[in-house]
Amino acid sequence: MAPSPAFFRFLYNEIEEVGWEHLVKLKEDLTSLSFRILALMDLIFRDKKGQPHMLEIELSQDYPKSAPCISADVPYICQLQWSMKSRLKDVVQQFRELLEQLQEFWSTKCEIDRNLAVVDQKQLLRATSCCQINLGNNSYMMISVNPRSPKSLPECRFFGPDSEVHSLLKRWRRNQSEWADDKSICENLAKMLEMDLPGPSYGSKDEQVDCGICYAIYLPVDPELGVTSGSAPDYTCDNPNCRKAFHSLCLRDWLCSITTTKQSFDVLFGTCPYCSEPIAVKVDSSHGTTK
Ligand SMILES: [Zn+2]
Ligand SMILES: [Zn+2]
Repeated sequence: MAPSPAFFRFLYNEIEEVGWEHLVKLKEDLTSLSFRILALMDLIFRDKKGQPHMLEIELSQDYPKSAPCISADVPYICQLQWSMKSRLKDVVQQFRELLEQLQEFWSTKCEIDRNLAVVDQKQLLRATSCCQINLGNNSYMMISVNPRSPKSLPECRFFGPDSEVHSLLKRWRRNQSEWADDKSICENLAKMLEMDLPGPSYGSKDEQVDCGICYAIYLPVDPELGVTSGSAPDYTCDNPNCRKAFHSLCLRDWLCSITTTKQSFDVLFGTCPYCSEPIAVKVDSSHGTTK
């Protein structure tokens, strides 16, 4: 049974209330594909930090009697409060509240990424709460940050040579009561393990990556390049799924050759050549590039 024109009028009204500017994709009348789903839409919202979040909403045959199904790139989804009077804008409101609740979780993960030797960058995806950290001496720690209480003592497992694991575990258990929710996670971890934890570049030193544009690891040694002469890639795409490395010099040249690139003051705004996510590179004219 295909949805009636009245249903669509009703649906468009609801989208209007949310704001059409948030709508990325709308697929209507999916009854040919499934008896259950009437419409599927993707909406995009920015949190208070300006980060975009995609929300997928699925309306079933008995909507609005039953709540829509929602999915998003989050570690847990909120239980929708839904009544006969509820509308799409209420779903959006609840999703926005969830995003704000998750800010502390995301900033905790960000802090881990910035300060510790995270083994796989995929672990930094928004929905993932586990992450493996290189502790040096061939030993690793897998921690699971609680999205609902990111500053509390995380679940933890250790891997590596038996003697190392044994010693780490002993310290971890001995110091459990030392964990302080008001301290940063890195500070707490260092205190628990009674050691300085290796920084983000640890373990990747001998594994220099090449630039995604010129395919070389090092720029040529050339006095005209100023301080960038002979340097390794110094720019990484922010998209955790991409993380492609570039020489910022190559990226600047590439962005300048693209007509859709925008420049504001000394910053070039364009998209990553690999994943097409937005990137911004400073135009640095202080050395070499301008003659
Ligand atoms: Zn390059
Ligand atoms: Zn990218």
